[in-house]
Amino acid sequence: MKKDTFNRRTVLTGTTALGAASLLPGRVLAQNAAPAAGAGPAGALPARGEFVVRGAQVLSMDDKIGDLPSGDVHVRNGAIVAVAASVPAPGAQVIDGKGMICMPGFVDTHWHHWTTFLRPAMRADDPKKTYFPVTLALGLHYTPEDSYRSVRLGLAEALSAGITTTHNWAHNVRSPAHADAEVKAMRESGLRGRFAYGPSLGMPNDKPMDIADWARLKKDVGKDDMLSLGICSRNIDGNNTARGAIDAAMAKKEWGAARELGLPITLHTSGSASVQLLNENGLLGPDVQLVHPLNLDAKNFEALAKHDVRYSISPLGEAGRTGETQLAELLQAGVKVSLSIDNVTAERCDCFACMHMLQTLNKHRTAGKYKLTTKRLVQMATIDGAVDLGLADKTGSLTPGKRADLILVRTGGPNMREIGDPYDALVQLAQPSDIDTVVADGRILRRKGAFTALDYDKVSRDATEAFNGLKARAKWA
Ligand SMILES: [Zn+2]
Repeated sequence: MKKDTFNRRTVLTGTTALGAASLLPGRVLAQNAAPAAGAGPAGALPARGEFVVRGAQVLSMDDKIGDLPSGDVHVRNGAIVAVAASVPAPGAQVIDGKGMICMPGFVDTHWHHWTTFLRPAMRADDPKKTYFPVTLALGLHYTPEDSYRSVRLGLAEALSAGITTTHNWAHNVRSPAHADAEVKAMRESGLRGRFAYGPSLGMPNDKPMDIADWARLKKDVGKDDMLSLGICSRNIDGNNTARGAIDAAMAKKEWGAARELGLPITLHTSGSASVQLLNENGLLGPDVQLVHPLNLDAKNFEALAKHDVRYSISPLGEAGRTGETQLAELLQAGVKVSLSIDNVTAERCDCFACMHMLQTLNKHRTAGKYKLTTKRLVQMATIDGAVDLGLADKTGSLTPGKRADLILVRTGGPNMREIGDPYDALVQLAQPSDIDTVVADGRILRRKGAFTALDYDKVSRDATEAFNGLKARAKWA
C-alpha cells in the first residue's frame, strides 16, 4: 500500500446534504391528474443475424488479440465468432468498417435511469431546481408507468451514446409494479444490464426495503440472459441524503438478505466514515460496489483492496462536486475502478467526455505525478466496467466466444480526421455523434447514427406526456 502523496485541497465532507426535508414524506399525492395509461413497446428488437465488420481499426481490449490497424469482426447469433486481420465469413452480411474504430460497447456502472424525464423541471442556476430537490419532490409521485417511460428515455440515450451495458441504480422503487416497469423498459431496450433494486424515496429509515420482492424479481430476471439483479443500499454514513440513511444494524439485515439471494450490493459513499463502518461491521466484499470515491483516507484504500470492493467513478458528476476524485489512490491500492454516467437529468451522457474529464481531474489532482494512458481510460470505460458488474465473461472486449456488444466510431468527421493514436482520439476528440453503429448481443440497434428499430418519437412523446401528468399531480410549478 503506497501512501497518498498527492496534493489534497480542502474538500467537502459527506454526500450532498438533503437541504429539502420538507419535500420528504407527508406530501399527499394530488388526485387532479390521472396517471398516463400504459404505453406499448416502442418497436420490436431486430433479430440477431450474422454479419462481419470489415476493414475497421479494431481495438479489441483483449490482451491476446490486441489492436488491429485493419481487421474484421465476425458475429453470428449474438456471439463474436472471430476477430482477425481477415475473416472469410462467407454468406455473412458485410458492414464496411473503413474509416471507423470498432471497439467494445461502453459499460456504464451506475445510472439513475428513473430520473431521466425530469429534465424540464431542472435548472442548474436555481438551487430549488437542481437534481436533488427536483428528484425528491417529483419522485414521490411516480407511477409505475412514469418509471417505465423515464427509464426507456434514459436507455435510448445510452444506446445512442454507444453504451451497451448499464447498471440501473433504481433508488425509487415505490412498489413491486415500479420494479417490474423498470425491468420491462430494460428488457425492451435490448441492452445488457443490472437492475439494482432500491428503496422507495421517503420511506422510513428504520423500515427495511421490500426484501420479499427481491426474491420474486430474481426469478423473473433470471429468465433473461441480458439482465441480472442486485440491490442498491441506502446510505450508511449518517447523512440523511436523497437515498435514505440507515444504521449498521439495518445494513446488516438488508445486505445479509441480499447475500442470501446472491445479489450484489451498491452504495453511494463520499467519505471515510462509511467505508470504515462497513469494514468494522464485516460488510465489505467483492459483491460490493461503492459510488463516488471522494474524501477517503489511506486506511480506506487498504480495506477496499483487501476485500476486493469495486468503485464506480462518475467523472462529470465528480467534477461538479469537489473534483477531488481519488482515482490514483484507488488504482495504486489495486481497487477495481469503472466509469459511470450517474444521471442524464443534470448531465450529458458522453463516455468520451467522461474519459477526458477523468484524465483532466487526475492530472490536476496529482500534479501530473500519476500517469494515466489514454488506453487505460478506454479500458476503464469498457472491460473494467464488465469486471465490476461480474460480466467480464460476456462483454467488455472483442473476444471470440463473448457476446457481441460493440460499437463503430467514425473517424472521418471534422472533429476526428486525420487521427493519430486511436485511444488518444477517443479520449481527446470523439463525440457521441461520431458513433455510427451500436450492436448489443448481436442485435444491430443503431446503424449510420440512427435507431434501427426503436420508435424514438414514441419514446419522446410518451415521456413528455407522463412528465406533464406527474408535474400536475405533484403541483410542481
Ligand atoms: Zn448516483
